[in-house]
Amino acid sequence: MTITQDVVTIPRKLPEGGKVNLVGLTRDKLRETLIAAGTPEKQAKMRVNQIWQWIYQWGVRDFDAMTNLAKAYRAQLAENFVIEIPELVSKQVSADGTRKYLVRIAGGHEVEVVYIPETDRGTLCVSSQVGCTLTCSFCHTGTQKLVRNLTAGEIVGQIMMARDDLGEWPEPGVGSGEAGPRLLSNVVLMGMGEPLYNFDNVRDAMKIAMDGEGISLSRRRITLSTSGVVPEIAKTAEEIGCLLAISFHATTDEVRDQLVPINKRWNIKTLLDALRAYPKLSNSERITFEYVMLKDVNDTDADARRLVKLIAGIPAKINLIPFNEWPGSPYERSDWSRIEAFADIIYKAGYASPIRTPRGEDIMAACGQLKSATERARKSRAEIAKEAGL
Ligand code: SAH
Ligand code: SF4
Repeated sequence: MTITQDVVTIPRKLPEGGKVNLVGLTRDKLRETLIAAGTPEKQAKMRVNQIWQWIYQWGVRDFDAMTNLAKAYRAQLAENFVIEIPELVSKQVSADGTRKYLVRIAGGHEVEVVYIPETDRGTLCVSSQVGCTLTCSFCHTGTQKLVRNLTAGEIVGQIMMARDDLGEWPEPGVGSGEAGPRLLSNVVLMGMGEPLYNFDNVRDAMKIAMDGEGISLSRRRITLSTSGVVPEIAKTAEEIGCLLAISFHATTDEVRDQLVPINKRWNIKTLLDALRAYPKLSNSERITFEYVMLKDVNDTDADARRLVKLIAGIPAKINLIPFNEWPGSPYERSDWSRIEAFADIIYKAGYASPIRTPRGEDIMAACGQLKSATERARKSRAEIAKEAGL
């Protein structure tokens, strides 16, 4: 059974007359912004700390509630700034507890955000772009034109929106929120878009989410998934330091060219070379290889054996994703017995090979099914090729 909660009718509050949104500014940028609007330089560091804590630790959006700031200063802040996150348009709750949110960002575009509760964690799947410039042939988002990159505020704002919905902000001035297990304990950049084609905004947003005086997510609880934008992989290790997942999906260049067209620019060998350096650079244990199971395309025993050979020497786990169908999708999901046989070969070679349970299928919230209703236009082949630079 699907429970649908319909349109939330909070009217959108647009930033009034050139007011700057503070959400998404790094500490350094927040400092500069406050100084530019009249905060004395000597006080700036303290003001950053205070405002940061209100916004990111306690989830406050109203300057007037910032009671450790003088009244006149609060008024000055309200004149110049807003604290704004994407607007929640609708929420659907799956029979399995998965929540799919549709949020609206400036310009009226919409992106989807998915919350997946599990016994030991709660994972938020965050989007980084409206649509995607890449055109992986099995992915619903890939059929949607890229509209634009999300700003850092719109990316971290998705986490803040989910914390609002889960009622997870601690009482201002009282707790840090660390009392019990968190409802939103993990973030995966696996929603709409290719995060490494929006690197700076994704980095700033994750830095904010990791900051110990705010949302305070450990870097080991954030996983960035990429289709393989090789030049940005080392930067991800150095500048974000989160866990990495790779949309691998094939064991020969011939098949990967078809499934993940970015492979034509950076092929399997180039990608694997970049990955070999990642664990050391980021000081993280292992890389997740995502592998979508497509019937008669990439799911043979020979594929499984080739996969194991290719990744030899890379600390890895292989996440097998049963293909999630979407209207008009050109592939079928591999049979369960095939997926299990594939997993078994990988497991026997010494790698963890979990099969990802599809979540929220009844509300089209599963991996690769996201595509906002407002952006249904399908790209032409020529557009696809041009955008992907192929
Ligand atoms: N753009 C990034 C992150 C978003 S996709 C990337 O490609 O890695 C998150 C994961 O879902 C990727 O591994 C993607 O390949 C996979 N995926 C996409 N469409 C899918 C589908 N229809 N069924 C199952 N997995 C899919
Ligand atoms: Fe874009 Fe990732 Fe979908 Fe490929 S799988 S089209 S990179 S969102």
